[in-house]
Amino acid sequence: MGFEGAHSRSEAPIVAIVGMGPKGLYCLEALVAEFSKNPLRTGLQVAIFNKSNYFGVSPIYDPDQPSYLLSNIRAKEIDLWDSAGFVRWYNTRYQPSKPLDPESYPPRAMVGRYLLHGFQRVMSRLPHGVRVSKFTAEVTDIVPGKAGYRLKFIDADGRPDELLAHKILLSTGHSFVRPARRERRYRHFADRHPGASFIPYAYPVTENLSGIPAGACVAMKGIGLTFIDAVLALTEGRGGIFKREVGGWLCYLMSGQEPKMIIPFCRTGLPMVPKPRDFPSALRPLTFVTAAKLKELRRRAPGGKLDLGKDIWPLAELEMELQYYRTAMGSPRDRRELEECGDDARAMRQVIRNFLRAHPEVEHLNYGPIVDPVGGRPFMTGEEYHSFVEGYLQQEIDYAREGLASSPVRAAVSMWYEIRAALKPFVAYGGLTSHSHRLLIEHYFPLFKRVVFGPPLINIEKVLALHRAGILDFSAARNPRIIAHDSTGCFELRTSSPAGMSAQADVLVDARYPTVEILRDVSPLYQRLCRRRMIREFKNVSAGTAYATGAIDMSRDTHYVINRRGDANADIAVYGAPTEGNLIGTFVISRDGYATLWAASILKQLRMGAE
Ligand SMILES: Cc1cc2nc3c(=O)[nH]c(=O)nc-3n(C[C@H](O)[C@H](O)[C@H](O)COP(=O)(O)OP(=O)(O)OC[C@H]3O[C@@H](n4cnc5c(N)ncnc54)[C@H](O)[C@@H]3O)c2cc1C
Repeated sequence: MGFEGAHSRSEAPIVAIVGMGPKGLYCLEALVAEFSKNPLRTGLQVAIFNKSNYFGVSPIYDPDQPSYLLSNIRAKEIDLWDSAGFVRWYNTRYQPSKPLDPESYPPRAMVGRYLLHGFQRVMSRLPHGVRVSKFTAEVTDIVPGKAGYRLKFIDADGRPDELLAHKILLSTGHSFVRPARRERRYRHFADRHPGASFIPYAYPVTENLSGIPAGACVAMKGIGLTFIDAVLALTEGRGGIFKREVGGWLCYLMSGQEPKMIIPFCRTGLPMVPKPRDFPSALRPLTFVTAAKLKELRRRAPGGKLDLGKDIWPLAELEMELQYYRTAMGSPRDRRELEECGDDARAMRQVIRNFLRAHPEVEHLNYGPIVDPVGGRPFMTGEEYHSFVEGYLQQEIDYAREGLASSPVRAAVSMWYEIRAALKPFVAYGGLTSHSHRLLIEHYFPLFKRVVFGPPLINIEKVLALHRAGILDFSAARNPRIIAHDSTGCFELRTSSPAGMSAQADVLVDARYPTVEILRDVSPLYQRLCRRRMIREFKNVSAGTAYATGAIDMSRDTHYVINRRGDANADIAVYGAPTEGNLIGTFVISRDGYATLWAASILKQLRMGAE
């Protein structure tokens, strides 16, 4: 399917990029670079659309947001074109007295300024024959016609307009899903009770949380990265100060403008673990979870679909085992013997057995307490659990300061960083059985994510300081039921462990990343594309069961959207967040090869159409 040749042979075709966050910027840059290498005789028009004012940036990296909102990757990993691009740009532009530490986690606002610089650089070097038109507007519909697609949009002043395009890229990033029944109930409850409020999404934190009055009791659903941003907005963002004390711990000095209490909760009741000081700067090579092995297993798997338990898990365990003993072995001779086994699992286990016999004091690998530090431990009171969390935060800060080398078991679990990256191409496009796919996404990734993909250390130090200042209350954090009480006009959190623990809140904030559910997306664009049957949800089907991940369906590698009938449309491609669930690990700023592939493929199509 496609419109090749629909544009006049003498007129420049129009390519539209819908969404100009980092991924839209990568695609614009790649398109311009590809055109410079292989120009079109007709020239090229590019229409770029972004809902917000800053092009190339997106609200996530809004240059105007407060500097306590940090990015979750280190300065040296941020790069638009060349390695260490961000660090070099920062040092050149700001000429700081002390150069930027490449290991630091920069404010997202600063990353936004770098992206803005990247956008301006692309725009200032457009090759002859390329015209780029900017629209600060929300694209709300794409209507196919004979000569191309009518892109309908609403501009910044609320005026509807439209534009014809021949090729379209959807790089719309993070979106929201329509509220479920439970969320609608919270909203209606808050409407009925003037003292209560429900905030369904924390971002942008400075705006969305500004209505929370000082002294309020705030329940927060989710104790991940969004939670940290939200808590900082309500404390540091309201004039509170974190001060480093003698002994190295942070303490929090109140401004008086913060809530009385913030009550976080989630399924596990646990905060994330900070990134260790020596978190590896590049992906470490894997010995067992390798592309060659996974390809071989896939070749033998029924229907070519890998099974998590049978194919992947044993390799992941070997990988963790290897890293555990590598770290635990004190002597270089033992380590060398272990390394020499290569990917011979049997030989490796023999070396480990010998080592354990010679060192009975070394414990066998048991990562259970790392991923589930609560285990079956009973807590009699909320205070007991609250104190447990304080001890846990302190312990994980200590380990993060010392680094992975100080804890073989944490070093073992940290391999999930690389394992997830290695699995990416094998999970994509339904590469796992549907059952395994669900298990990986809904169970294993969240389990390891909490301990491997955590925030910078400073943020967990701040969480601990707020715990000690009495602002954070974890007593009802473990998987509570939320009850909206008409009698009190408050939200109540009630836990079964500790039994009968209850906490009251005036405000309920959903402090989680929104999930991707293309069929329930709130944006008019995706709702209309669904209604027009131009897109559909990706479903992984195997052995008579289907796993619907919420992602948009698309063709392999080229990412052309697939319509309800199952046909790929070579005119419309999709990149980034809407594909998450089919692909994995798309919620990142780092650039992959897709932008270049897309640019080459559409210019090729346009060239063929013009001939
Ligand atoms: C709060 C938060 C913090 C994050 N921090 C990090 C981090 O530290 N490190 C990291 O690697 N990743 C982080 N991420 C993950 C994030 O996915 C990527 O960093 C990155 O923003 C992805 O870029 P994108 O262009 O795909 O999407 P986005 O950044 O979401 O950009 C999409 C753009 O498209 C626009 N848009 C959407 N729909 C339309 C439409 N219909 N018409 C016109 N414009 C539209 C949006 O307004 C936006 O500007 C974070 C995500 C969130 C939500």
